[in-house]
Amino acid sequence: MAPSDSDEPPAKRARLEVDSEDEEMVYAAPEPVRASNLYLDTINRAALDFDFEKVCSVSTSNINVYGCLVCGKYYQGRGRKSYAYAHSIHDDHHVFINLASTKVYVLPDGYEVSDPSLEDIAYVLRPTFSRASVPAPDHARISYDLASQPYLPGYVGLNNIKHNDHMNVIIHALLHVRPLRDFLLLTDHNGTELTRRFAVLARKIWNPRLFKSQVSPHEFLQEVNRASNGKFRLEQQGDPIDFISWLLNRLHKDLGGTKKRSSSIIFATFQGSIRVETQHVLVKADGEAKPTFDIDRDIKSNTSPFLLLAIDLPPPPLFQDSVEKNIVPQVSIHSVLSKYDGKTAQENLGILRRYQAESLPPYLIFHFKRFTKNAFVEEKNPTIVNFPLKGLDMRDYISGDHKEPILYDLVANVVQESVAGTTRDKENTVWKVNLLAGEKWYQIQDLIVEEARKEMIFLGETTLQIWERRK
Ligand SMILES: [Zn+2]
Repeated sequence: MAPSDSDEPPAKRARLEVDSEDEEMVYAAPEPVRASNLYLDTINRAALDFDFEKVCSVSTSNINVYGCLVCGKYYQGRGRKSYAYAHSIHDDHHVFINLASTKVYVLPDGYEVSDPSLEDIAYVLRPTFSRASVPAPDHARISYDLASQPYLPGYVGLNNIKHNDHMNVIIHALLHVRPLRDFLLLTDHNGTELTRRFAVLARKIWNPRLFKSQVSPHEFLQEVNRASNGKFRLEQQGDPIDFISWLLNRLHKDLGGTKKRSSSIIFATFQGSIRVETQHVLVKADGEAKPTFDIDRDIKSNTSPFLLLAIDLPPPPLFQDSVEKNIVPQVSIHSVLSKYDGKTAQENLGILRRYQAESLPPYLIFHFKRFTKNAFVEEKNPTIVNFPLKGLDMRDYISGDHKEPILYDLVANVVQESVAGTTRDKENTVWKVNLLAGEKWYQIQDLIVEEARKEMIFLGETTLQIWERRK
């Protein structure tokens, strides 16, 4: 590329001291190529990180931003008055990548370099996938980062920038739901900035050619903050259930979803429906048995859609003596799911209710209600739920007569832990996620990724689970 007069650096022009024809010739000839080869050696891949919000480090503008491939900083523009240009002169750093187009330029000279050796950088900046390159569920293949450290694409640590672990676990859990993940990896959709950044994050987490085996969710969480009007902030510990509820509804809307079933990938993947039957309780004399549904009277029936199925935990014993104090109550998942068997009735303020699913989605999200607020404090219920990792039979919880089991397998399990020596409230909780990779389980807590023993998984205080319907 022959630069026009105005783009040309004055230093270069003075040094050449040739007439304009020769100058033209010199610029078109191999000289810049040699220079660029020299400059390409100054690229420091270990300093590169394209996870942070793409704004100029000086002007904070997000328009026309370049990344310096020597120090990793972002600067605006490449014209003679630009910050990138100034950086190239003051710091003697000469190779820049346009963060939007992934084109690489040498500054202050201003010419574009295209060299196959730069392709890995463009890929880290913007990973792409094809049907053939999307990782298969049972073929977890190890990759190696720049420092030759092994990692498993999709199972990489996420930075906890301040207090965003409650959002990290949801990001990981959702990005292990195959239809949603594949949609984000493969579709160049016309969504919003939020859906675009979520897709970029998905591609980074599943990138088999990462320079370092960890990813920062910073860019996505900045947009979450904006889109939620500051409700979800990385500086503040929050509730993953609130976050996933907001995120799913928001993604659904941003992807053009309507009230109709399957009108977005979110509804198509996670939406089921629940039938609620209600009946007023007739006042009975004291001492009578628990109120039950009276089939001779009017029973109201209402069906409503859900994305998360809320599961109540039995209240833990209020008073424990010193011996019992360390005994954590345990329940089976079927005993807590019995709320949805269509028979078990719950009474509240004179109204009886019973629940059963009308339809169950391909991916079922359970929310175990651990936090209860009484008049004074928010308290956590420590009850342990026992569940199988594979083959949870849901047929009792869906209407109709089912001879065959309706089986679900666990793919993600979000657990919480109270920080030692603190009160058992949400503020002092750390969040971890268990994820299935082929036949193995991993536990991820921010940057810590470790294999998890299967028999340990149900011992955590599970708060959210995602189950995949077996085909
Ligand atoms: Zn630099």
